Amino acid sequence: MSSENGTVVFYGAGGYAKKRLDAWVEKGLIPVCFVDADTKKHYTWIESSSGTFEVLPLLDCIEKYPDFTLYLSVDPNIQLKIRDYLLELGIENKRILFTDEDEWRLGCDFIGKLIVFTPDFISTCCVKPDLRIKYHDNFEDDLEAYNSSVLILLENIKMGRPTPCDNCPKLIEGWYKKKPKPENVIFSSLFSNSTCNFQCFYCQAKDKFQVSYGKSAVVYLNNLAQTFPSTKFGVGLSDGEPTLNPELNEILDLVEKQKWTCSITSNASVYNAKIASLLRQGRLSLHVSLDSGTAETFAFIKGMNLFDRVVGNLKKYGSATREHSITFKYIILDGINDNNDDIDGFLEVAAELNARVHVANDAHYRVPLSDRAINACVELYQKAIAKNLKPEIIFELFIPVDRKRIQACLF
Ligand code: SF4
Repeated sequence: MSSENGTVVFYGAGGYAKKRLDAWVEKGLIPVCFVDADTKKHYTWIESSSGTFEVLPLLDCIEKYPDFTLYLSVDPNIQLKIRDYLLELGIENKRILFTDEDEWRLGCDFIGKLIVFTPDFISTCCVKPDLRIKYHDNFEDDLEAYNSSVLILLENIKMGRPTPCDNCPKLIEGWYKKKPKPENVIFSSLFSNSTCNFQCFYCQAKDKFQVSYGKSAVVYLNNLAQTFPSTKFGVGLSDGEPTLNPELNEILDLVEKQKWTCSITSNASVYNAKIASLLRQGRLSLHVSLDSGTAETFAFIKGMNLFDRVVGNLKKYGSATREHSITFKYIILDGINDNNDDIDGFLEVAAELNARVHVANDAHYRVPLSDRAINACVELYQKAIAKNLKPEIIFELFIPVDRKRIQACLF
């Protein structure tokens, strides 16, 4: 039978296929035949209450049904192996589909899997403004609007129609769920009437700190827990300072109770015992943009003279922490922190805490960095490697020309 993906052929005529055949047919997946590599099964028939289907050799099937699509009707444990085998035989990727949940298509790791809740909009993506949708009056309507925006986006991508994802480097062909479900949620901390006690000069959210949004992340998270009871959500908190969020402890209690995980972007000026507890359990990762290694530079960048307090809090967290569950970010700022004192001071703290190191650029700073700043990125990276800190340069935050300049020095 033909479907939108061509003529349905089941690959694999073993016990698993016989067991699942009726369920697949009920879902509308009706094969014209089976194919199997086992020559003993060729030209035999599979009988079921859904019909009788012949088992053919692959070549016969290709000849008889040139627009075939092979649905893998083998045990899920060997599906990937069989897919690779078929690819090696020269079957195109797009002609191999899973009978159950996955399909080969253009996609990214966020579409339908991530929900971003900010004070102003909901989205499946942190990057593209055109994917944002407005809030409705309640969670159910918000979720429905989100789901239908995802379905329309996926449909448009599949049909090759223009979408906001066009030209995004994250949009790549691969195996994705046919119907992706939310797995990760990011809440702007400002959502729950939080604020920030710093004045980082590169911050884009500053103008939002004093506005009252009156929304509750706890309410949304409880609704998500009820709607998707078996999903182990990853909850991200960022924008504004999460430790000042009046709902923080309630959110972390929920994360612990549901056995979810949490990622917090904090300035670490306020120590929170619950964060330390979840770090200890391996349920939380903490991200801190330290951007400096001296008190003077820290005060200049952050607008607060709190370097010692922040480092002290980080050390307290560090003693509670599993290896690498704290990430230190160093946003390179031309003429401000591109010097040895800051780089060395920063790496000293990172090494003491066994933190991950991310070298980044201010995403909104769109002019090429000076040679000195580029050298600082390279030096920071190389010194972090020497200290065994597993550093990463977040290339997507650099403009292409700077990306190339850094790569030319490193590789
Ligand atoms: S714009 Fe890129 S990152 Fe965002 S949803 Fe589309 S493909 Fe994914």
